[in-house]
Amino acid sequence: MNLLFVTPELAPWVKTGGLGDVAGALPGAIKALGVDIRVLLPAYPELLRKFPEAKEVALPSWPDGLLPLPSLKLATTADGIPLYLLDYASYYDREGNPYLGPDGEDWTDNHLRFALLSRVAAWLGSTSNTLDWQADIVHCNDWQTGLTPAYLNYLPGSRAKSLITVHNLAFQGLFEHIVMPRLDLPESAWQINGVEYHGKLSFLKAGLQFADAITTVSPSYAREIQTDEEGMGLAGLLRLHSDKLTGVLNGIDTTTWDPAADPHLPFHYSARNLDGKAANKADLQRQLGLAVRQDIPLLAVVSRLTEQKGLDLLLELGAKLMQLPAQLAILGTGSAALEQGFSALAQAFPGQCAVKIGFDEALAHRIEAGADVFLMPSRFEPCGLNQMYSLRYGTPPVVRATGGLADTVVDAADKKLGNGFVFGPATAAALLEALQRATQAWQQPKTWRRLQKQGMTQDWSWDNAARRYVELYRSLLSK
Ligand code: ADP
Repeated sequence: MNLLFVTPELAPWVKTGGLGDVAGALPGAIKALGVDIRVLLPAYPELLRKFPEAKEVALPSWPDGLLPLPSLKLATTADGIPLYLLDYASYYDREGNPYLGPDGEDWTDNHLRFALLSRVAAWLGSTSNTLDWQADIVHCNDWQTGLTPAYLNYLPGSRAKSLITVHNLAFQGLFEHIVMPRLDLPESAWQINGVEYHGKLSFLKAGLQFADAITTVSPSYAREIQTDEEGMGLAGLLRLHSDKLTGVLNGIDTTTWDPAADPHLPFHYSARNLDGKAANKADLQRQLGLAVRQDIPLLAVVSRLTEQKGLDLLLELGAKLMQLPAQLAILGTGSAALEQGFSALAQAFPGQCAVKIGFDEALAHRIEAGADVFLMPSRFEPCGLNQMYSLRYGTPPVVRATGGLADTVVDAADKKLGNGFVFGPATAAALLEALQRATQAWQQPKTWRRLQKQGMTQDWSWDNAARRYVELYRSLLSK
């Protein structure tokens, strides 16, 4: 089976969120099952620097098209995964965030940048492909790759089957109709059963409409997005296609996220010997300018600071949090209101609350290890990775019962399977109640050890998900 995995980001080099992590880890787990998997993504400057030996292997072309003609370079990761780097400098040779310019706004040509990525993915799954390798299956990820199934649909001859994974339904890739002629889609694609969405062009809808299979990143989220409340305007379409929609729970990269070997940690520890965790906590407290105290729990957040993540509920609690009593550490970037609100809280409670605005991979690891309790009060959460990192790092999470959080965290009320704390309503009061339960449980070392060990010894690896995906690919090929 030849599988092309097409993605707009790839950890550790280009990552804005969970999709980057997935792309960095899932292909390796799929390869381990004997699939010939190759990854396609734009040749961002980080990647050209990382793989200077990448060689040009093809010049994809489509006669009479308006999309520009790029070149494909081939590199291989340390794990032996072939990477096709889509090189078209005027689209992708831009430093920083893959979607946003230095002004924090979307690049104005994102429709072209990601149509080209989608077009090349379809080319690799078609007989126009000039390489000696043709994809049987194209696995697309999020709106940036959503046009791939549409291009495949309109190509002649034998072509790959496609599967699209929705990592977050909130991002849909919506553009004005006026861009349509530049994208090399037939005008007939502009219809309700095509790429048109309420008078706009929707890359994600195109993917959902034309893919042979749709997956999303947890079973709960697969159910939730088919409801009008949580379907972000696409619930009807998803219900219509429910026979090709499945939820496959993400895993985590258990090599990168391993408290017994994590190179970012000053002290290593494991479920068997948790001693190093307290030392990490003291070190983190020092690094963040918090009082070095082992007698109160350290609560932590590593997140995009957005409404999705429910962090406004945490901010609303403000001083009440400080009375729990507990310390609070926050690492994140995002909305100005949340950045300013949390920074003000840190100023009001020096030594007890610390806020770092920015994206800092090393600090994220140290927080997972040094904190006692991890907070994810998300309004919706397709899967969420941080709660799994926390579980593996012996940092029981407090989560709202939604999406992948509901599928991975079991409330401490379950004496056997409990690994964290779960609350229902998206309100500050419900969050506070869960935090009170967590901080009280933390004061009981035996209860706490049990919770920690439960999360640390569960299997969060990608193996299960990889097996599920391979079953799905096989079923598509047999159709
Ligand atoms: P989402 O994809 O919605 O942002 P996830 O929990 O699925 O949420 O994945 C977020 C990923 O991004 C995690 O690996 C998390 O550690 C990382 N992350 C988010 N914000 C930051 C930050 N400010 N610094 C470092 N890592 C971050």
